[in-house]
Amino acid sequence: MRMYDIIYKKRNSVALSADEINFVVGAYTKGEIPDYQMAAFLMAVFIRGMDESELAVLTRAMTNSGEVMDLSDIKGPKIDKHSTGGVGDGISLALAPLAASCGVIVPMMSGRGLGHTGGTLDKLESIPGFRVDLSANEFKKQLEKIGVAIIGQTEKVAPADKKIYALRDVTATVDSIPLIAASIMSKKLAEGADGLILDVKTGSGAFMKTFEDSKKLAEVMVSIGRESGKKMRAVISDMNQPLGRAVGNSLEIEQTIEVLKGKGPEDFRFLVTELAARMVVMADIEKNPEDARALAMEKLSSGDALRVFAEMVKAQGGDPDVVQNPQKILPRAKFAEDIKPPRDGYITAVKTDEIGMCSLELGAGRASKEDKIDYSAGIILHKKIGDRVSSSSGEPLATFYYNKLRTPDLLEEAKKRFTGCFEISDSPPQSKLRMIYDEIK
Ligand code: URA
Repeated sequence: MRMYDIIYKKRNSVALSADEINFVVGAYTKGEIPDYQMAAFLMAVFIRGMDESELAVLTRAMTNSGEVMDLSDIKGPKIDKHSTGGVGDGISLALAPLAASCGVIVPMMSGRGLGHTGGTLDKLESIPGFRVDLSANEFKKQLEKIGVAIIGQTEKVAPADKKIYALRDVTATVDSIPLIAASIMSKKLAEGADGLILDVKTGSGAFMKTFEDSKKLAEVMVSIGRESGKKMRAVISDMNQPLGRAVGNSLEIEQTIEVLKGKGPEDFRFLVTELAARMVVMADIEKNPEDARALAMEKLSSGDALRVFAEMVKAQGGDPDVVQNPQKILPRAKFAEDIKPPRDGYITAVKTDEIGMCSLELGAGRASKEDKIDYSAGIILHKKIGDRVSSSSGEPLATFYYNKLRTPDLLEEAKKRFTGCFEISDSPPQSKLRMIYDEIK
């Protein structure tokens, strides 16, 4: 088989056979196909797409390029959640312990920040001592003991994706529905859960900006999972503004703790409860969505979900006192600066991906692979879409938290960039944003 012929076929929109796709994934992972040919292949897929059966073969080949975890000896329903990524999207941090407190086993393998989006692992590592590199054995033991563990993907999980992803990142082939779907699902199928709920984001802070693309991505991923025998569900949720109020690692942990105490921002609490209720139904703990929702709400108000979060922190090397004294345990930024609204009026739209980039510039994310994260840096939003703002009232739009910045001009640049993210009009927005636009059951 020749890589040239496979690129030629895909370029001409001819569907590839299973043997051809298996050859591409296997040979590229082993280093037998050069990057320039793989890059041409990825661009051909980006432009021509893949049909359902090609995509199923691609995903399976990527999953089988590494180890597939066997969790069958752990009793109980094992359901994970995956978000396609957003700004202030710390949902997993609260959802995993909440679902576990309801009786779901949550074996979660998460990722790091990517582009303008934050990553669950980076957020958890802002708790001093928190380990995301548990061995497979430690992971399983923790699941048996407390029902939840959040770890990073080991080198052994879907190595084909790791290599292909790095090449996509530098060849403008990231935002392709089949390539994103295969990348996410290859890793999720390797982690051994019985089911998966997908939180597919849509809007200005998502990778998929339009509802149509987000829905298509959700449908494709649900179909890949079902073909592999997994219970699947997806929601398409709003990312037209950051979720909650916090953007940045330790700031999002502090917000998670508030939410697990039954407080915190309403949009965040709503989405966490809705997703937990769906996981409870998928796990057959409750049949009726109303009962599942009531169970999740009860676990938040009783403090059970918070207790499970503290147990998880302790089991993974952090100080569980973080739930009582977050301000003492989490890193704090030296400087805080309020940002004024640029004019009077109502916030009608937000460039959410740009807000993610501002937080990254303050130090909360990586500008290059080698960069170290400043866990205490980030942004707290005081105003969101629909709110009235006034440049003379003294009420800030947001507060920046930061330490030493990379360049002296960076703060002024970030402030300018940030205020440019808000569309402010004389009248309030016509319609209210919905949190969940659609779902695939
Ligand atoms: N997350 C992934 O793991 N892969 C993608 O391609 C995009 C987001």
